[in-house]
Amino acid sequence: MIVPNLHYGELKDSYLFYNIAQKVNNYLSEHPDAHLLRLGIGDVTLPLCPEVIKALHGAVEDQSRKETFHGYMSECGAEFFREAVKGYYASRGVALEADEIFVSSGASDELGDILDLFSPDSTALVMEPAYPAYVDANIMAGHKLIRFPAGKENGFTPLPDESVDADIVYICSPNNPTGAVFDRTKLKAWVDYANKKGAIILFDAAYEAFIEEENVPHSIFEIEGSRTCAIEICSLSKTAGFTGTRCGYTVIPKELSRGGMCFNSMWVRNRTTKTNGISYILQRGAAAVFTEEGQKQVKENIAVYKKNAAVLMEALDRCGIPYYGGKNAPYIWLRCPRNMGSWEFFEFLLKEAQIVGTPGEGFGACGEGYFRFSSFGSPADTVLTAKKLVDLFGNE
Ligand code: PLP
Repeated sequence: MIVPNLHYGELKDSYLFYNIAQKVNNYLSEHPDAHLLRLGIGDVTLPLCPEVIKALHGAVEDQSRKETFHGYMSECGAEFFREAVKGYYASRGVALEADEIFVSSGASDELGDILDLFSPDSTALVMEPAYPAYVDANIMAGHKLIRFPAGKENGFTPLPDESVDADIVYICSPNNPTGAVFDRTKLKAWVDYANKKGAIILFDAAYEAFIEEENVPHSIFEIEGSRTCAIEICSLSKTAGFTGTRCGYTVIPKELSRGGMCFNSMWVRNRTTKTNGISYILQRGAAAVFTEEGQKQVKENIAVYKKNAAVLMEALDRCGIPYYGGKNAPYIWLRCPRNMGSWEFFEFLLKEAQIVGTPGEGFGACGEGYFRFSSFGSPADTVLTAKKLVDLFGNE
């Protein structure tokens, strides 16, 4: 008899955003005319920028002509795409070789697939509150989990604990859900920990494009010693509105090896076996993000989301509600007012103000009492949300 992967039985019943969607749908079935202010799920709302669209159209044309047609692409990434990403890193002073960069269909896919490179008896350290996929992917892989608490006492960016033995360490900076960023000193401490323990850091840089403070690292590879202990997983989803278009990249330095095995070579072997790469058309569109004009245009879109964050932060300030994030990230992580629990606050906002946010508890037990707002909504809805928050809590 076939034995299924029994670890699936250890997963929590349903996924956070599915739970939220169900509650929202129930509310809408009772209030069909309600206009919901959706500041919950972290999906972008602005379209792809003109430079990307132009490149996509050009690539479609290429595929229509015998002379410019492309069949199978290199599994690890087209040379033009890898060079474009290499140039982007170089512009921030990080030297990579093009074959240390792998194209992907997004960070989610990579965060799961990359676990193929680790032994099933690995232990993964996840700093919670965390993006739920880290925990779930490791449960599916049968890994042991260390839930490492991040809290307001460490600004949601904890330092390593030498007494804890982990093989895989997740760092997400700028962080989803807290919006917190790791500074150089803290990242260096984690790099030193990983090199000392022989652990590998999976650095999730999905939100690096939102960093506005000069001295905050965009990449783990800005930190000395990281080339022997880190893999960086990046995405164009939030940088350039690719959530529905799908493209990202992963950086694996050639120096990264454990037990005599080189992780870059292992990933080449993995990709050439398990995928036939990303389409030519998508890679052309994605490469356009890194051109001068592409960078200018994606930053204009990010500025719209940043303005939303500023509107929300101003309202929270007026209400005296403490929060984190919002500055270098599209998320604001706030303390639920009136000592409400995070699902209690969710229900309260939905019923009293038709605002949908994300309960902190969904990102791990230590997220209880917190709530996440996303700044990816429409500016008009964000302004309305801010006004409603001030009406509800401005006099407390
Ligand atoms: N990593 C983090 C921290 C995220 O918040 C998300 C999406 O919300 C992802 C990865 C997944 O991004 P992608 O759309 O590239 O799969």
